Amino acid sequence: MQKIVFDHVTKYFGSAKAVNDAHLTIQEGEFFTLLGPSGCGKTTLLRTIAGFYRQEEGDIYFGDRKINDVPTHQRNIGMVFQNYAVFPHMTVFDNVAYGLKARGISKKETEQRVMEALEMVQLQHLRDRVPSDMSGGQQQRIALARAIVIRPGLLLMDEPLSNLDAKLRIKMRSDIRMLQKELNITTIYVTHDQEEALAVSDRIAVMSEGRIQQIASPEDIYAYPANRFVANFIGTSNFIDGEAAGYNDKDKNASVRVLGASFELPLVKPHEGKAVLSLRPERIRLESAPRPGKLVEGVIESVTFLGEKVSYLVRLQGGPVIDVQEHAVEPHHLRKVKQAVYVNLQLEKATIFDGEGKEVVY
Ligand code: ATP
Repeated sequence: MQKIVFDHVTKYFGSAKAVNDAHLTIQEGEFFTLLGPSGCGKTTLLRTIAGFYRQEEGDIYFGDRKINDVPTHQRNIGMVFQNYAVFPHMTVFDNVAYGLKARGISKKETEQRVMEALEMVQLQHLRDRVPSDMSGGQQQRIALARAIVIRPGLLLMDEPLSNLDAKLRIKMRSDIRMLQKELNITTIYVTHDQEEALAVSDRIAVMSEGRIQQIASPEDIYAYPANRFVANFIGTSNFIDGEAAGYNDKDKNASVRVLGASFELPLVKPHEGKAVLSLRPERIRLESAPRPGKLVEGVIESVTFLGEKVSYLVRLQGGPVIDVQEHAVEPHHLRKVKQAVYVNLQLEKATIFDGEGKEVVY
């Protein structure tokens, strides 16, 4: 168990920066996730930690030890990959024992540690089977046991659940999370699946085009996205153009004009001109009757029943189509297509970015 530090790490492929100035600390025992779309640099960053790649700029530390030039096999890392990478015709026991044999651990200790690891992933009863006739979920458990049996200081996982079906993914991710907490092992996990990241992580780094966009807890990433990319990538966001004017330095207020109405809001930084409002679907209220003040008229364009919730696409008068979600407590009372509604945007619950969506102003 140890903390991991990236000090301005950059990794090039040719002239392209696959990882651009990664600067962060992962705490001891933390479950830390690298999340982002395909090609954003997650795997490359993970591979520099493992020592498969050498960064061109910056330093990586395990605890206080700089490991830039330490080869992979001396980094004491356990790894689990998407494609399991187990030996298909070797028994489960021998697969898990493999790393211990390579380290010259005695037969007696190997037996004890392998069985302990197999118990942790609930495979002890299958010790003499071979992976080639086991399910994907079971093979991934073998890979996990093999990674933890060496008692690594750091566990790296690259899309470990991608090959499993949806139900099994949910079960496995909670098993991995519990095991990680039980062992208290610093873990770096790569996924492009935001729901998975929100479910398992202590903190998440959202990446785009090689750059880390935001590092925060799942709750904070969702509630306080740092820029438009994060707001768009995590969960659903409605973006509405607005304009800020009359910023007042004394009480830090500005008047934000959106969809023909103006609202006085306290900004977190001085801003005038174009602004983008970002609103989560569940933060917007639909009302059936007009009320003076902040309601915007709209018409329902589509209704999608999602089980627990129902999603309405609403065309706002003079504005965009937005997604509004309500709890579907009584499904027969669903609103109807073409129904007129009054939309309460609850702007105080919005995030407002500058015109380019680069930073938060409210
Ligand atoms: P995915 O989820 O698709 O695996 P990723 O976020 O893990 O994507 P990386 O695999 O780290 O992304 O790739 C980051 C960028 O670096 C991409 O533009 C990719 O094309 C490029 N890249 C990755 N590996 C190499 C390589 N060995 N040689 C050249 N370019 C590479």
